[in-house]
This record gives sequence, C-alpha cells and structure tokens, in this order.
Amino acid sequence: MTQQRNSRIDADATRRISLPCEGGCTCGSVRYRLLATPLIIHGCHCSLCQRQTGSAFAINALVEAENVEVLSGDIDMLKVMTPSGLGQTITRCTNCHVAVWSYYHKHELNERIRFLRVGTLDDPTAFPPDVHIYTSTKLPWLSLPKGVPAVARYYKVNETFSRDSLARRAKLLETG
Ligand SMILES: [Zn+2]
Ligand SMILES: [Zn+2]
Repeated sequence: MTQQRNSRIDADATRRISLPCEGGCTCGSVRYRLLATPLIIHGCHCSLCQRQTGSAFAINALVEAENVEVLSGDIDMLKVMTPSGLGQTITRCTNCHVAVWSYYHKHELNERIRFLRVGTLDDPTAFPPDVHIYTSTKLPWLSLPKGVPAVARYYKVNETFSRDSLARRAKLLETG
C-alpha cells in the first residue's frame, strides 16, 4: 500500500549536520564543500531514478548552487530524462563519471538549485530523506520509515518545506 502523508518538515529537529562538510566522486578528483543545510532532502522512487542509480531510490539534498563549492576536479554535464519529460542535467566527474549533483529543467529554480547526491558526501548519515516522493513506483519489498512524509508523486512546496527553507527559496526566486 502506498503511504500518503504530507506535512511540513521540521528539518532542524531531525538533522545533525555540522557545516561545512565535504564530499566527492569515487576517484577522488572531484571534491566539493557544502556550505548550508539542505532546503529539503528527497528520497525519489521514480522509475527513472531507479534506472539511473541502479538502485531502489535516489537521495537528493536540494541546496542553493552557491552553497556547493567545487574544491577540485573536472566536471561535465549530461542531460537525462525525468518523469516530467523535461530532463535533468547531471554533473559528473570527467574521470570516474560518478554523478555528484544535478539540476532539473522543470524546477522553478532551474540551475540555481542543486540536487546533491547524498551518497557522495563523506558522511551521508546526517542526511536522511525528509520526504519520499514517487512512491507509486517504490519497489514493493522496501518499507519506508514511519513518520517520514511519503507521497505518490510530488508534494506541495508551500505545505512541505520548513519555514526557513521557504524563506530561502523566496530569496532565490527574488534574485532570479
Ligand atoms: Zn526520481
Ligand atoms: Zn572521479
């Protein structure tokens, strides 16, 4: 049965993130530094994320592009498909081709917001998903944690983002 829960996240209550923190690709060439807590963290169970990661779901931390600082390495960008049909552009290490973040062409903030691949952080333990999305295609053997919002497709940003994240988003929209 698909869970249908949607409520505002209280990110500060659930996160133990100490900043700045760092991450990178597998070969060690690309290194980046995260300068702010994510606006929200998605567990995305869409069938395209499953194919593109070769796994049950993708974990993406959404953060302002300016808050992801590239420390070293060469990156390139490749566009792939998304459920909206508009695609996402994935940033990868040119050497080992591991994806470190992407942006969605459908997203209102476009390249101003990065979907950081949580598994590339040096310590991903402090970044559990705030919301599980596209659970209509969740693999049936996977049980989601109780108390974490889960929606069949996407959530309403105004009803789900924390107050602080809404303020940061408004600021980005203003400057766009
Ligand atoms: Zn997805
Ligand atoms: Zn690499």
